[in-house]
Amino acid sequence: MRDHRPVDVIVIGSGITGTSCSYHLRRLGYKTKMISSPLVRRSTPEGKAIACAGTSDLITRMSDARGVDFAEKIWAYYGRAMTHLLSYLQEKGIPVVQGGRYYFSKDALEQSEHDAALVHAAFSSASIATPKLALAAIQQEPKTLCFDIDHLLTSLCEGEEVISDHVCNISQTDGGTLCIETQGNQYTSEMVVLAAHAAIGDFDCLPDGSLVPYEDQAILLESRLPSPYHVLGNYYSWKHNHFWVQVIGERLLRVGGARFLRDRAGIGGHQLTIHKKSADLVCQSVQDMFACDIGAISIVPTVGCLPCDEVAVIGPSTLNDRILLATGFGSVGLSGGFEAGRCLAQMVDSGVSSDLPREFWPERLRHFGG
Ligand SMILES: Cc1cc2nc3c(=O)[nH]c(=O)nc-3n(C[C@H](O)[C@H](O)[C@H](O)COP(=O)(O)OP(=O)(O)OC[C@H]3O[C@@H](n4cnc5c(N)ncnc54)[C@H](O)[C@@H]3O)c2cc1C
Repeated sequence: MRDHRPVDVIVIGSGITGTSCSYHLRRLGYKTKMISSPLVRRSTPEGKAIACAGTSDLITRMSDARGVDFAEKIWAYYGRAMTHLLSYLQEKGIPVVQGGRYYFSKDALEQSEHDAALVHAAFSSASIATPKLALAAIQQEPKTLCFDIDHLLTSLCEGEEVISDHVCNISQTDGGTLCIETQGNQYTSEMVVLAAHAAIGDFDCLPDGSLVPYEDQAILLESRLPSPYHVLGNYYSWKHNHFWVQVIGERLLRVGGARFLRDRAGIGGHQLTIHKKSADLVCQSVQDMFACDIGAISIVPTVGCLPCDEVAVIGPSTLNDRILLATGFGSVGLSGGFEAGRCLAQMVDSGVSSDLPREFWPERLRHFGG
């Protein structure tokens, strides 16, 4: 086992969130180390990417469940996220096209979902997103940014070594130092930022049975993926990450898409249930995507399949405040993840981040835990 010198902060995950956090920490004078798994592909897309200031259907659903004030705070966060991301791209000379339209999906299902959300917001209930909020979602600046994601990630990592290793466990010594274990190595650090989206449930950072963001809710399926696709650890997603598949065993897939697995994505629910109809829809979607026959031998809710509120989880773990978490960005990860990294760096530095709404903190999940 190799011995590593302690560093100020270890960042786990080299997607947009981890690289942004590490970049902002280094700017604040911290010594960082980034560890990222060769087994788990990042969910950050490749090539040209689009960042947007929150999606209006997401914000509308949020305001329905949690009230307009709540949704407006989250909306404002994504607005700041876009401003900071744009400044970074411009400062580093990364070409960026600013879009004039807010919603641009060509997918009929997504469009109809979006339209339905707007109609709902505008007409059905005054206490839901008011027409003002729904219109703001379309008209408010900034709108969309299109840029090369690889260029952005390379720029954020510049000068930093990313260690390719799969983290299995995080524990704490009596002295308080954190011990990060991989299969062959051990690293120590005073603080950890866990930016390992979609794998966060594998770590002991949330109370047992916690509510988790909708991306982390899943069912298990027997894999009949064609051979080029069935690669252990591979992660696929489509429809803006609303559906995703991870190859977790020789014949086993972990399949998520809780917006479809649970009524209203589980908002307001308190039962661990998956309706067969919803599960069938998810299976069908996997089948269509890979043009293969998928065998649904078991529809098993995994650890993450609990009530969900579709709000990202960003902030100190309720079990150990030296571990900061960031996950659950859905299809707004490029602006949200960049901003989360920036805010978490501030939090490491001073204990708080005035730009990070407390509504994101994992503490809101506490009452669901054991
Ligand atoms: C195809 C696709 C298209 C998308 N398009 C858009 C878009 O246009 N706009 C938008 O805003 N969002 C989009 N999204 C969503 C967005 O990309 C994600 O929300 C965002 O990239 C998540 O970033 P992240 O850094 O939090 O996580 P990730 O990019 O998933 O990074 C997590 C990192 O953690 C590492 N990791 C995981 N487990 C471990 C472990 N045990 N040990 C060590 N490392 C570990 C992984 O290897 C990975 O590097 C898209 C997603 C996909 C899949």
